[in-house]
Amino acid sequence: MFCVECGIEGEIYKDGVCIKCYLKNKKFSKGPEILDLPVCVHCQGYKYKNTWTNDLLDDILRRIIKNNFEISKELQKVDINIDFNETPRGLECTVYISGLIQEKEINEEHDLLIRLRKTVCEVCSRQFGGYHEAIIQVRTEKRKFSKEELINIKATVETIIENMQRKGNRTLFIADIAEEHGGLDFYISNKNAAFTISKMLLDKYGGFIKQSSTNTGMKDSKQIYKMTYLVRIPPYKKGDYIQIDDNYYQIKYLQANKIKLINLLTWEENSTDLKNLEKARIFSGQDLIREMIVVSQTKSELQLMDEKTYELHIVKKPEEIQYAAKKIQVIKIDDLLFVSPKSHN
Ligand SMILES: [Zn+2]
Ligand SMILES: [Zn+2]
Repeated sequence: MFCVECGIEGEIYKDGVCIKCYLKNKKFSKGPEILDLPVCVHCQGYKYKNTWTNDLLDDILRRIIKNNFEISKELQKVDINIDFNETPRGLECTVYISGLIQEKEINEEHDLLIRLRKTVCEVCSRQFGGYHEAIIQVRTEKRKFSKEELINIKATVETIIENMQRKGNRTLFIADIAEEHGGLDFYISNKNAAFTISKMLLDKYGGFIKQSSTNTGMKDSKQIYKMTYLVRIPPYKKGDYIQIDDNYYQIKYLQANKIKLINLLTWEENSTDLKNLEKARIFSGQDLIREMIVVSQTKSELQLMDEKTYELHIVKKPEEIQYAAKKIQVIKIDDLLFVSPKSHN
């Protein structure tokens, strides 16, 4: 066969011409010279096909080009590469499209200007407008949180939110934090996340959640409810001492509504739930702890001397063990003395 263009005898590729003539005047890709890309001035997110994303610019550019360029189906093993420079006009890109036609490599180049349209994404516009779907109220009972506890709770919530944002929850943010009634109110953009955060607070501090909702009107013919999650943290924490009836305990473990206690007199451990502790008296703080010198001991008792006052005390051993240490820690509650479970090895 002869090529109808160049007359050379050989294999005809298509439309009566040889591959060389076919490729001569043919382009396998085409695209626009200018495109617009909305970018959020607050979070630097980009809007691609009506969706805001914080994906890498490289990935977004690749998607934009795939979506806006026409690439012939004849081209096999297509590869797209982009170089770009940020200039005051926008992103000046060179788009390289390559592929194969019958083992012959095709390389095409296009200039493309992507104009960055500065705007505010819906997440940021909500955030700066104080938008929130839920409030997490963190409170305790019978007392106010200390400054330290407030800082700790705030840091815990902020860390949880940062982790959730990092995992891709773009609609999540704290709209506001307020100190209320000795506790904290967190205004959260997303209901489901607010509930998850509340449960995580329970795992860390113990307590329970009370949930309520308020109707805040209609939107798109649907009722809109704002959720409130009241996280009630118990007035005591791990390591504190409590009195129930005539018994004294130390709190060994506390999670959600489960609590593990150690009896200060016998060192027996038992588990219970928060409800049983409602009437408990609470003792906490370092000033309950005394260092005492072991003067002598019998099978069941220790004779101890207070380091500061030189007073002598007889304290019952929780377990019949021989103490080797010269000094031990004692807990003083209501003029009663207990060997600290910490001296238990
Ligand atoms: Zn030819
Ligand atoms: Zn934004």
